[in-house]
Amino acid sequence: MQSKLISQKAIEKIQQSEKILLVTHTRPDGDAVGSLLGLGLALEEGGHQVQMVIEDGVPHSLRHLAGSDRISRKVEGEFDLVIVVDCSDLGRVGKALNGRPAPDINMDHHITNEEFAEINLVDPEAAATVEIVSRLLDEIGLEVSKPVAAALLTGLITDTIGFRTPNVKPGTLCLAARLVEKGADLSELYRRALVSRSFEAMKLWGLGLSRLEQAHRMVWASLTMSDRRAAHYPGRDDADLINVLSSVEDTDVSLIFVEQPNGNIKVSWRAQPGFDVAEVAKEFGGGGHAAAAGAEISGSLSEVQMLVLERTKLILTGGHYVQS
Ligand code: 5GP
Ligand code: MN
Repeated sequence: MQSKLISQKAIEKIQQSEKILLVTHTRPDGDAVGSLLGLGLALEEGGHQVQMVIEDGVPHSLRHLAGSDRISRKVEGEFDLVIVVDCSDLGRVGKALNGRPAPDINMDHHITNEEFAEINLVDPEAAATVEIVSRLLDEIGLEVSKPVAAALLTGLITDTIGFRTPNVKPGTLCLAARLVEKGADLSELYRRALVSRSFEAMKLWGLGLSRLEQAHRMVWASLTMSDRRAAHYPGRDDADLINVLSSVEDTDVSLIFVEQPNGNIKVSWRAQPGFDVAEVAKEFGGGGHAAAAGAEISGSLSEVQMLVLERTKLILTGGHYVQS
């Protein structure tokens, strides 16, 4: 893995490029959108032509960010440079880069990153990918405008669930303070990203919570396609219900199983310190961090649920216990 310092090669490549393509993962979260927008808007203000692409578009809960309307769903044209942000493997990007050579730069903070680009700026110690983006902007000498600061702060707020995760370091808080100094509105961005929810999202939570179960210090729920239709919820994500599940007392690992339109099941894990759910997610073709991981698995909801709970139980019963 490359050191925390941004490689000189990445800086040179960016400075020499006119047309830059930025992409991030499907079902994007705040760190994905924040990294894409923070980097994209700063590069644009620095005189580059930038296209920002997310195959699934921007979720409703992040559309207040300035510049989010500039993010398209498809790649159009040719580019001098391709940068992928917040993706541990290329499969996470979806089909957006199909038929194109390997990306030039990969900026990410997932421990499971596969280093798929020519230059890999990967730092698993970073609390969010926006920390790495912010370092890069500093080293290139690009200005952090108010919209850039708002995008970057949103990535920090969401990936640390409001500065609550154990990977928050003094540097994370110093960066947040700097972004507030640049004009980012902490309380408003916090409210938008973590507190305010659509009526439809709440209805979906209710349907999922009605099937809440627990055993072996695990708690889990599921969301079906029929729940989505009943709640009129437009996204194919869990509307952040997993963050609610992870607050259940006397629980080491919480999980959510979300039926997808393609018939697969999206699984999210959240673990208390001392447990590593990235390992089990990787077994199922996914990835993430020790404390938060995900995978998309083929099979029926009941099959996937049974298999995943069985494997996850192993972590809890000593098989893969990690000392904190
Ligand atoms: P979530 O469960 O909220 O989607 O994601 C939790 C963490 O796991 C995030 O860091 C996310 O990037 C990662 N993650 C989620 N789904 C996948 C997946 O299908 N593949 C990989 N490699 N990582 C995932
Ligand atoms: Mn992400």
